[in-house]
Amino acid sequence: MAGPFELAPLPYSEDALVPVISAKTIGFHYGKHHKAYVDMLNRLVEGTRFADMKLEQIVRATFKASDGKEKKIFNNAGQVWNHDFYWRSLAPKGGRPSGHLKSAIERDFGGLEKLVSELAEAGKTQFGSGWAWLVSHGGKLSVRRTPNAENPMTDGINCLLAVDVWEHAYYLDYQNARAKYLEQVLGELLNWDFAAENLEKEDHPIRAAA
Ligand code: MN
Repeated sequence: MAGPFELAPLPYSEDALVPVISAKTIGFHYGKHHKAYVDMLNRLVEGTRFADMKLEQIVRATFKASDGKEKKIFNNAGQVWNHDFYWRSLAPKGGRPSGHLKSAIERDFGGLEKLVSELAEAGKTQFGSGWAWLVSHGGKLSVRRTPNAENPMTDGINCLLAVDVWEHAYYLDYQNARAKYLEQVLGELLNWDFAAENLEKEDHPIRAAA
């Protein structure tokens, strides 16, 4: 069924993250799980006030819902937003932070190694399904974790990078070894250019939108 929301294209091919994430995992994770959230969101918003909203507006308008249809809309809209952000948080050659981002990491974590270990810890200690995040608030960097479809953005916090720690993100490649998945993804695939762009959006929201 057509609807206002579309599955955003992957920013790389399905085999681009091999050997850290297999094409099979991306095939299921992007092609089945992520797509299912988009399809369900389109069904749920049909004929509601949410049908004309942007995805981010829906997330902000529904995150406090505790049950019922609005909670379902939040869960699916949140998962669509989070997955769009996750795919862009990864890159086949992650590289290293530079410039302003690099100095902010040194100032707020004491270095990249500490940031990565905090992010790994956030991912490992998220009980059940959820997400680990690098965020900025008032320009200061920190690490957060959120359960299920939740997102730091609804606390007015700017997201820089997301790492999916739902089992579907790693089970085919790592089985139950979430820590190993995190070590590999955080070591090899983080897209520091994307993080730098997102940090810039908080500093200069108007310039970034132009
Ligand atoms: Mn996922």
